[in-house]
Amino acid sequence: MVLSKSKFRVWLRKSKFVGLLFLVMYLCLFSQVALSQEGRSFELYAKRSTIWQSNNIPVCWENPSNNFTNEMRWVQEAAANSWQGVSAVNFTAWGTCNSGSGGIRIQIVDVGPHVVALGSDLNGIRNGMVLNFTFRNWSQNCQSGRERCIRLIAIHEFGHALGFAHEQNRPDTPVNQPGSTQQWCTQERQGSDGDLIIGAWDLNSVMNYCNPRWTGDGILSQTDIQGLQQLYGERQQNRLYIRPFNGQTFGSVISTQVVSNSNGFRGWSWNGTTASYVAVENGQSRLYIRPFDGRNFGSVTSSQALSSSDSFRGWSWNGTTASYVAINNGQSTLYIRPFDGRTLGSVTSSQVLSSSDNFRGWSWNGTTASYVAINNGQSTLYIRPFDGRTLGSVTSSQVLSSSDNFRGWSWNGTTASYVAINNGQSTLYIRPFDGRTLGSVTSTQVVSSSDRLGDWSWDGATASYVAKYP
Ligand SMILES: [Zn+2]
Repeated sequence: MVLSKSKFRVWLRKSKFVGLLFLVMYLCLFSQVALSQEGRSFELYAKRSTIWQSNNIPVCWENPSNNFTNEMRWVQEAAANSWQGVSAVNFTAWGTCNSGSGGIRIQIVDVGPHVVALGSDLNGIRNGMVLNFTFRNWSQNCQSGRERCIRLIAIHEFGHALGFAHEQNRPDTPVNQPGSTQQWCTQERQGSDGDLIIGAWDLNSVMNYCNPRWTGDGILSQTDIQGLQQLYGERQQNRLYIRPFNGQTFGSVISTQVVSNSNGFRGWSWNGTTASYVAVENGQSRLYIRPFDGRNFGSVTSSQALSSSDSFRGWSWNGTTASYVAINNGQSTLYIRPFDGRTLGSVTSSQVLSSSDNFRGWSWNGTTASYVAINNGQSTLYIRPFDGRTLGSVTSSQVLSSSDNFRGWSWNGTTASYVAINNGQSTLYIRPFDGRTLGSVTSTQVVSSSDRLGDWSWDGATASYVAKYP
């Protein structure tokens, strides 16, 4: 078909209109079937009393099935990549519910997906969220796009589970809103209302039945994100920076990348070719080993759970032996284990370093250990001989700072580098250190204008550090 430019424009306009009309009708009908039968109708704006107190919200399945492995993963990914991806909320656990399970309890059944309450009113309620994976009875038109239906409906229902009601239920819903001729758009105003209105009435909300794109195509609107972050906080990511550093002046950043999407970064070690780090995920401390050339990470070559809680404080690995500190029954405990980069061997040594959770930095070169602990509110450095089995007596101990402001510690035997928070700024200090007496500060500079810096490593030529972002 050959068309002149002007004819083409007319044709385009016509077909666009017809296409759009068809699309809108389809989506509206679809939305009506897919969402208005949620059973009960909830308001989309927030209900303050149902905002969860903790950002870690457990989720479990009432009736998980091996037949639904993919479907259950789609739901978990949908929740993680939408609401959790841009806020401090973590949906955790995702195991099988037992009689005492708290949090959000999901039942899989072929009826209209719904929640029986908003937000934390769902806490521990049996069958509190109902999701449909088969669509044999309800919304059969989802059978041709089950994955999309399952993911988008999950995003909408998890919005309810965070305390968000239907946007079209807001009292300021415009009379002549787009879609107002559609019954489903206005007739869903029933049930109790929310009590917190965030931003202007939002046609594009994933919680708005009037949205011309069904469930907003699963993309949170700007106002969805704004409201979410207002109530649950922004998500803190951990970003790794690699910069040349000669001990005096930093060079430009040569590599930077997000290493964790949660504020869960705990330990970092890098020998120039292989990186090892610990991240807290779903409440578990997990070790990752990845090739890293200072620019790009390779795929994870080894990953294993170190502990079933967020108890991790310091990590050091020389290629054959791993040493780390974890809080065990409130005590800072050091563990030594053989580690070839794949599998951790049994613990060969374990000892209590301190009777409280006051541990901040750990470094060990095979013969001498150095670490920082908070003692009477002061950041104190300790040097002790350590052969991997037994810690010798403290050979040097000195106060680095009069407050608990310590963030990172690195020592190569002659020069110490550490980061402390000074007037709210993450500040790097370089000082000669022979293992006995710290020399005067030879370099100091602000690495970040806020208390953001987590981990610090420096080999004399290249610095790597992890900072929270934003
Ligand atoms: Zn709904």
